[in-house]
Amino acid sequence: MSDFYELLGISRNASAEEVKRAYRQKARELHPDTNPDPRAGERFKEVARAYEVLSDDDQRARYDRFGEAGVAGAAGGPRMDDVFSGGGLNDLFDAFFGGQNPFGGGGRRGPSGPPRGQDMEVVADLEFEQAIFGATVPVTLRLPQRCADCAGSGAGGGTEPVTCADCHGSGQVQRVRQSLLGQMVTSGPCPRCGGLGQVVVTPCPTCRGEGRITAEHTYQVDVPAGVDTGSTLRLSGRGPAGPRGGAAGDLYVHLRVAEHDRYWRDGNDLVTTVPISIAQAALGTTVALPTLDGDEELVVPAGTQPGREFTLRNRGVPRLQGRGRGDLRAQLVVEVPTKLDDEEQALLRQLAERRGEQVNPPDKGLFSRIKSAFS
Ligand code: ZN
Repeated sequence: MSDFYELLGISRNASAEEVKRAYRQKARELHPDTNPDPRAGERFKEVARAYEVLSDDDQRARYDRFGEAGVAGAAGGPRMDDVFSGGGLNDLFDAFFGGQNPFGGGGRRGPSGPPRGQDMEVVADLEFEQAIFGATVPVTLRLPQRCADCAGSGAGGGTEPVTCADCHGSGQVQRVRQSLLGQMVTSGPCPRCGGLGQVVVTPCPTCRGEGRITAEHTYQVDVPAGVDTGSTLRLSGRGPAGPRGGAAGDLYVHLRVAEHDRYWRDGNDLVTTVPISIAQAALGTTVALPTLDGDEELVVPAGTQPGREFTLRNRGVPRLQGRGRGDLRAQLVVEVPTKLDDEEQALLRQLAERRGEQVNPPDKGLFSRIKSAFS
């Protein structure tokens, strides 16, 4: 799917009012009466999805940060009612989709049977090394789970749910209504049974007839090597259970990786800095370089300049898709000493003199402070 802002034809800092206006205009453009393109319906869905996300501050912030993966779990559900509650658009929605939520997710249900549970999102924190090498991390959350006492049926005391008298088990009732397109017959979920086709006469005391209870649960989540902040894992069917025995939704785990005090990531490369002294840079040295796989020796040749980068192949981050690892890059930082004792000063002055380099005279207090236009 394309970028949500592009779909609505607005800039990334558009106001809430601009988002709404752009959406309404697009929705009218894609109306089947004025738009003969058979793909208009598909595009309408995309535009509506873009609006659903961008009109919600939380979701918009996640989208800006993580892209579509950040809002993947939020599709469908009750938000759709908000989107289309603004007058005429409700009818437009009916005209396109026969009153059905086209986005699946929380609202999805077949012609019979209980609805699937909504999708859910959770954030999991990882240590830097866990993200690089992979890990199994516990993720604890509260979510609706199937009631064990009634096996999800919602019926208590050994009873079973019975067929709904209003819709005769179909879960759907038809309504005739006036709309901007004229008289229209729409079918919607039966209000008595909530579209389930069945009603519970004697509710299960544990779940009060809902067939699910909300409780804490801990998943052990396998995190593959090479993930980073912004990676999202989708755990199919591990989300909230649907009411009355409906299948569970999906659980989206957004990963947030802690920073490391020595390394940072550049794509699949690990980058670090190696501090050495002026003398070490000029004369060459060997320094111990701690890598995430153990210490390595870094041989610095004589005359090495500041900022030079040494690359250790295949010691970076494993590629999530594909084989191998990135590189480890060590950037040399030549540290200039700031506190010199008298003898060290004298030695450096000797060196400067020998090389004919102009240096400031020894500091004799306030009066010899060098004035400069630079600060
Ligand atoms: Zn129960």
